[in-house]
Amino acid sequence: MYPKQSLYINGEFISGEGRKTQDIINPATQEVLGHLPHASQADLDMALQAAEAAFAKWKKSSPMDRSAILRKVGQLTRDRAQEIARNMTLDQGKPLAEALGEVVGCADHCDWHAEECRRIYGRVVLPRNPDVRQLVLKEPIGVCVAFTPWNFPYNQAIRKICAAVGAGCTVILKGPEDSPSAVMAIAQMFHDAGLPPGVLNLVWGEPAKVSDYLIRSPISRKVSFTGSVPVGKQLASLAGAHMKRVTMELGGHSPVIVFDDADIDRAATMLAKFKIRNAGQVCVSPTRFYVQKKVYDKFLAKFLDVLKSVKVGNGLDEGVEMGPLAHERRVPAIARFVEDARKRGGKIELGGDAISGKGFFFPPTVITGLKDDAMLMTEEPFGPVAPVVPFDNIDEVITRANSLPFGLSSYIFTNSLQTATKISNSIEAGMVNINHFGSALPETPFGGIKDSGIGSEGGSETFDGYLVTKFVTHI
Ligand code: NAD
Repeated sequence: MYPKQSLYINGEFISGEGRKTQDIINPATQEVLGHLPHASQADLDMALQAAEAAFAKWKKSSPMDRSAILRKVGQLTRDRAQEIARNMTLDQGKPLAEALGEVVGCADHCDWHAEECRRIYGRVVLPRNPDVRQLVLKEPIGVCVAFTPWNFPYNQAIRKICAAVGAGCTVILKGPEDSPSAVMAIAQMFHDAGLPPGVLNLVWGEPAKVSDYLIRSPISRKVSFTGSVPVGKQLASLAGAHMKRVTMELGGHSPVIVFDDADIDRAATMLAKFKIRNAGQVCVSPTRFYVQKKVYDKFLAKFLDVLKSVKVGNGLDEGVEMGPLAHERRVPAIARFVEDARKRGGKIELGGDAISGKGFFFPPTVITGLKDDAMLMTEEPFGPVAPVVPFDNIDEVITRANSLPFGLSSYIFTNSLQTATKISNSIEAGMVNINHFGSALPETPFGGIKDSGIGSEGGSETFDGYLVTKFVTHI
């Protein structure tokens, strides 16, 4: 049974009675799983007031108590992982093993934040006058409003909630209406772990209306968003107009650079498997594949070989490696990229057309022969489509890799230390992965530069966006 979804405001689960609702659809079968209540304006006001009232107490709470709650949520995450993962596969589509990996991995995020929140330090600045004392204090910023997407429903929400709650802030989170069950499960766990009412509030609705209302409210002090660059810019502008702090985790267009001295079979196999993860609906998905001319044919052959054997289907079925796209609108969105590539004379080496029948399936697709100005080479596809193009030398490929306004992740394969060093010094990206995929751990910072965002989540930077600095001096 798919769980009943509700709002969570001031420690109460509020069902849909009398409220507008929207259907929750299984993207693999198009079956209606349930109905999601939208928050009314009165609900949003209630959430804002609850968060404001709770902040007055929560900001004074002991970091040890916050830590204990976060640790408990980590344990509950492990205990309930199977059920949460199954529901995530139902409403998001990813294969069950991937969903389970996401949920279990998030228990580590809870533990990390539980540890780090006990280490939010200030500092003492030596005075010019020996009778003066100068202190730099870190204080929670206040009520945070957070907006999280549907691609990693559990992970995206838990990172923001743990950072806000651990810092001593309160939070109103609007989760992804298309895939809500994981976020609902998080609210239930914080509730069960004893988080005081109002510290975490969960609302649903029309994204633009809810974000506009919550960001404009004088009660909110910080905005955190994960999603597309255009929406991020819109929300950051509104936040700027009201002088609110932002953390923006936005889209990317990660370059992959495979040098001719790399282990080509290993690189092609790893990249093919990474490309189909979550059906390519990953902000750090490898996106533009630049392969050095000498090894281009060898790489392409192996890459296609691995992708050809990928089993696409319902994420609950045994052996399925790639599920459907998360919702109906993503199918025409991906098809547009392929259409543009066809028009420009690109060669469809694999896939290319949506899979007919029930469900929003699009197969792994590989396209060659594109110029750098093709839509697929410049806009984020957010799906299982990979353009592969050749390059000559390192300077040329660095220029091409840095040519887009995005700067999220990047993937380099080389066996030369000199090349690895030069690339990591020159690439314009928030994350550089050389010969392996190592981003998104709780203990390491995750974030983009340029249009890909502002601020980091995770690592010892994780609380930066949720704290303000106060200077105190006395004599
Ligand atoms: P979309 O841009 O409409 O929505 C993306 C996400 O942002 C959704 O979760 C949505 O609820 C939210 N959103 C949209 N407008 C909003 C607003 N005004 N206020 C608050 N939240 C808002 O597109 P979509 O079809 O749902 O997703 C496709 C695009 O979204 C992709 O091209 C990709 O770039 C981006 N996306 C990025 C991430 C990421 O991890 N960075 C995750 C999901 C989607």
